[in-house]
Amino acid sequence: MDAKTCLKKLEYVGVLAFATVDREGAPQIRNISAIHYEPDALYFFTARGKGFCRELLSDGRVQILGYTKFKEMIRLSAKAVPVPEEEQKKWMDMIFTEQPYLANVYPRDTREIGIVFEIKAGNMEYFNLGVNPIFRENYTFGKAVTAREKGYRIAENCIGCGTCAERCPQRCIEPGTTYRIQPEHCLHCGACFENCPAGAVIKL
Ligand code: SF4
Ligand code: SF4
Repeated sequence: MDAKTCLKKLEYVGVLAFATVDREGAPQIRNISAIHYEPDALYFFTARGKGFCRELLSDGRVQILGYTKFKEMIRLSAKAVPVPEEEQKKWMDMIFTEQPYLANVYPRDTREIGIVFEIKAGNMEYFNLGVNPIFRENYTFGKAVTAREKGYRIAENCIGCGTCAERCPQRCIEPGTTYRIQPEHCLHCGACFENCPAGAVIKL
């Protein structure tokens, strides 16, 4: 798996959830399908009057979520920016050609109320609940800074009692002088953290 494959999977999902934060700090989420995909970028259309557009212009941070029928969750965290003025028409026409329903929503030249944003860099989380053990991995594409690590880690004060391994629903903790979590199979459920008698499990 890699970022390009994740983008392709998002394209197959088609309708994605886009989350932003409004000026009161409240979460806002909506479905978007007016999207054009390149192998390492995506372009999407919205109308300038929408709160979504205002949130993107004032902050730009967005989380995009897709879920496949194979129980794969793909989350993209990125900054969206308007494409340069001279390229707006090109990308808008491409999105309208690929998504014919848009001509019904914005007939004739009413599409001019729209604006196209681009995402050329971001952090991608892939989380597959359809395999055993579950599988997760993070990827970065473009010039995005690597995302903060999430989940749990076992520190050197581990006393090797094995309680965490017994409580782990995914059996993804290896024994050793210091036990070790396999991050690619971890649910981030916190059972190891809650049950460690030595306080050796660290939440990242
Ligand atoms: S967080 Fe949950 S899944 Fe991950 S290692 Fe701990 S118990 Fe296992
Ligand atoms: S429960 Fe805590 S002390 Fe025991 S093996 Fe796991 S991390 Fe180490």
